[in-house]
Amino acid sequence: MTTKGTGEHCCGTLYVVATPIGNLEDLTPRALRILREVDLVAAEDTRHSRKLFNHYGIETPLTSYFQHNEAAKGEKLLHTLLEGRDVALISDAGTPAISDPGCLLVQRCHEAGVLVSAIPGPSALIAALSMAGLPTERFAFEGFLPAKTHARCQVLRALRQEQRTTVFYEAPHRLVAALQDVLAELGEGRQVAIVRELTKVHEELFRGTAAEACEHFQGKVRGEIVLLIGPAEQSAPEESVQDALRRWRTETDLPMREIVKQVAKVYGLSGSEVYKESLALREEEE
Ligand code: SAM
Repeated sequence: MTTKGTGEHCCGTLYVVATPIGNLEDLTPRALRILREVDLVAAEDTRHSRKLFNHYGIETPLTSYFQHNEAAKGEKLLHTLLEGRDVALISDAGTPAISDPGCLLVQRCHEAGVLVSAIPGPSALIAALSMAGLPTERFAFEGFLPAKTHARCQVLRALRQEQRTTVFYEAPHRLVAALQDVLAELGEGRQVAIVRELTKVHEELFRGTAAEACEHFQGKVRGEIVLLIGPAEQSAPEESVQDALRRWRTETDLPMREIVKQVAKVYGLSGSEVYKESLALREEEE
């Protein structure tokens, strides 16, 4: 186990640093200090990160760490850390390891007993969720939707009864097709939100039903996109179990034992749960 603040530690620390997702002002002061202080910064695309470095006058050496050199480069970075040097990991935008390279290096560091510390900041997922106005108590993040229709429909079909808001990253040229699949699989009334170009000049939030979204986004869509799908409407009746028992008793000639069975079926509850409710109802009425 690697814990923070244990005092003695022979190796360097891997800092997982979040960087802006558009607006360069969204770099935290702590992230800036860490990027200046570490010995080396591992970046997804060094040319891209150079712009951020130039903007802030950061002079720390940059090295590349991207999807296709993750394993080999990760070992080199681990070696650097084991030698006692500090390394910061950044991606092109947002939080590393979230639909971006980083997870493998973090795992290797833990295995090797190297400290890992997060420098939190922007992530398109959280920013989109925080502004979309869909339920946030529970949510699921699914990364990118599959590019092919068949696979995409399968993923969407699994959300028919989903009670959490589901968040996807989506490429602009696939948004229209993805929305058509949402409509086909989840119905035209399903609530969605599409957040485009977060923190940038042309930031846009669309909220509405799947049908309205299909109508709004036609033709060419540009920019970076987060697609959020609201929870399925709960089909459970609003009437309480006791009210249902009372109503069935008035409206039918069925014995209470049969009513309990029927109400249990409608509410998806066990017979004994509904039976308890029927006893409570009887007590209340006596
Ligand atoms: N690690 C990043 C993060 O924490 O947000 C995500 C990286 S992922 C490779 C890139 C995807 O994130 C984009 O294709 C888009 O779906 C979403 N994204 C990134 N920046 C965005 C922005 N400014 N507005 C909307 N979506 C964005």
